[in-house]
Amino acid sequence: MIEGKVAVVTGGSRGMGAIIAEKLAQEGADVAVIYAGNEEKANAVCDKCITANNVRAGAYKCDVADFKSVKETVAALKKDFGTVDILINNAGVTRDKLLAMMKESEFDEVVDTSLKGAFNMVRHCCGLMIKNNGGCIINMSSVSGLMGNPGQVNYSAAKAGLVGLTKSVAKELAGKNIRCNAVAPGFIDTDMTKELLKQNPDLLNAVPLKRAGRPEDVADAVMFLIKAEYITGAVLRVDGGIAM
Ligand code: NAP
Repeated sequence: MIEGKVAVVTGGSRGMGAIIAEKLAQEGADVAVIYAGNEEKANAVCDKCITANNVRAGAYKCDVADFKSVKETVAALKKDFGTVDILINNAGVTRDKLLAMMKESEFDEVVDTSLKGAFNMVRHCCGLMIKNNGGCIINMSSVSGLMGNPGQVNYSAAKAGLVGLTKSVAKELAGKNIRCNAVAPGFIDTDMTKELLKQNPDLLNAVPLKRAGRPEDVADAVMFLIKAEYITGAVLRVDGGIAM
């Protein structure tokens, strides 16, 4: 089901995206890693995928928020890999600030990366999936988009938007055998949360399982959804119970 497929992971150079890319390669998928600037890390992920699993892998620098850049990158992917079967919209950034202080640019950057980035990717990859009469899309939401969070008006809006996007894409493309699901992580131990959790370790007291998640916990959920052929339009929380 995954072996021999072409998978694209945005934000695959670090954190959860890197682990998702590695797990896809372990199951025999060719992997394209999209990153914003961290060329060295993106190449290291690709090297690991190739060496350990004998699949094809390539790193592509692309700002997912930029419609034209995404169009060009998907064209390059088609040339290099032939198609796209699995799309993981994982790229995201935080620019946390209380609403009264938040700059317009801080709102735009977060929404453009997570939400518009997912739209741009789906928009340019869906033609390839429709042609294949099948595909699988996973969008990385967040519990912040389900519950709201002070200091994250931008991030919560982007991640809640992704839930709506996921459900509309799922309904629109189900007839073409394309599934679309979302994963909503809680506190996961990556670069994104390192400083926050270091400065506020008591945040984890609110998590019923009393610990931060590992990127592997999220990657396992992504792999489950890729294989779950009768699940579409779902939002799977991977959050130690914080948003129940
Ligand atoms: P991370 O470690 O901060 O890595 C972010 C990744 O996104 C990097 O690969 C980065 O590329 C890439 N990226 C950022 N802006 C981009 C852009 N404009 N175009 C293309 N790529 C871009 O993040 P993470 O913690 O693994 O989070 C992954 C996803 O899960 C994000 O969508 C995040 O919002 C979501 N999430 C995270 C948590 C958490 O607790 N960590 C919780 C809920 C949801 P470079 O390496 O090149 O900079």
